[in-house]
Amino acid sequence: LTGGDEHYDATDKDIDKALRPLSFDDFAGQDKVVENLKIFVAAAKRRGDALDHVLLHGPPGLGKTTLSHIIANELGAGIKMTSGPVLDKPSDLAGLLTNLDPHDVLFIDEIHRLNPVVEEYLYSAMEDYRIDIMLDSGPNARSVQISLSPFTLIGATTRSGLLTSPLRARFGINSRLEYYDAKLLTSIVQRSSEILGTPIYEDAAYEIARRSRGTPRIANNLLRRTRDFAQIKGTGTITVDIAQFALNALDVDARGLDDMDKRILSTIIDKFKGGPVGISTIATACGEEGETIEEVYEPFLIQEGYIKRTSRGREATEAAYLHLGRTMPQHLRG
Ligand code: ADP
Repeated sequence: LTGGDEHYDATDKDIDKALRPLSFDDFAGQDKVVENLKIFVAAAKRRGDALDHVLLHGPPGLGKTTLSHIIANELGAGIKMTSGPVLDKPSDLAGLLTNLDPHDVLFIDEIHRLNPVVEEYLYSAMEDYRIDIMLDSGPNARSVQISLSPFTLIGATTRSGLLTSPLRARFGINSRLEYYDAKLLTSIVQRSSEILGTPIYEDAAYEIARRSRGTPRIANNLLRRTRDFAQIKGTGTITVDIAQFALNALDVDARGLDDMDKRILSTIIDKFKGGPVGISTIATACGEEGETIEEVYEPFLIQEGYIKRTSRGREATEAAYLHLGRTMPQHLRG
C-alpha cells in the first residue's frame, strides 16, 4: 500500500502539473532516450553551448512535453511553449525568438503543422541563430537581420513522417518515445497516488496500468477517476475491486481498449469483412477524423497486434476477432 491519507483538492489542471516529473530521475522509462539526453545536456553545459535542437516524436501522452520541461530544468534554462498551428505569421515566431535568453528552450508542439512560411523562417533561426524580417511593405519594404541568443528548439510531433526534410535535417537530436509496459506504468500510477495522497494497493495500480493503452497520461486520468470512485463508493483507498469497478464503469476493457478502439475494430470486421480498408473510409464509418485515428488509435492497435497495415489498407488480425468475441473466417487466416 502506498500513498498518504490527506486528500489533494485541486482542479484537474493543477493535478496534471503536480504529477509531472521535474527531473530525469523522476521520469520513468524511455531509458535509451533519457540516457542519451542526459549526456547531450551534460556535454552542452560543460562546453557552455546551447543544447542542439531536439525532435521528440511518438503518440500523444507519452511524455514529450514533460521531457522538454525536464531538459530546460536540467539545463538551468527557461522554456517558452507554443505549437505549430498557433504560429500563424512569421512575426509570431520572431516575437518568441527575440525574447529568449541565451540557452533557453523554445518548445513547439505539433511541429508538423507549422505554416510553411513560418517554417522557412525557422531554418535560419535554428542554423545561424538569426532571422531576417521584413519591415513595412510596398515601396518601403526592407529586410533587417536580427541576431538571436543561442537557443534550443524542441519540436514535438505525433507524425514525424509529415515533417519536411529540410526541417527534420536541422534537428541534431532525434528521439522516438515508445509505449510504456504495464510494469513501468504501475510505478507511475503509484508515484501519482503518492502525490495525490490516495493510498493504492499494488495490484490495483497494476490493474489501472495494464488498461492504460501504454500511456502515462491515460494512466493518470484513469487513476483520478478511480480515486473518485474510491472516495465516493469506498473508503478512499484504491483496492483492486474498486479499480475494476471504476474501469468497467468507464468502459475501459480488460486489455485497455476504449470505445473508439473497439469501434474501429468492429468497423473493419463487420462493415469491411476484415479489410483491407483505407483509413479515411474507417474514419468516416466511425465518425472520427482520419488524422486522429492515425495518430492516437492506430499505433496502439498495431503495436498490440489487432490491426495490420498492408499496402492495400488496414486489416483486422485474428486477435481482433477473438477480442470482440468473433471467429475469423477460415479463408482470411494466414
Ligand atoms: P505528450 O507531450 O507526449 O503528449 P505529456 O508530456 O504531456 O505527453 O505527458 C502526459 C502526462 O503523463 C504528464 O502530465 C505526466 O504527468 C505524465 N507522464 C508522461 N511521461 C511520464 C513518465 N515517464 N513518468 C511519469 N509521468 C509521466
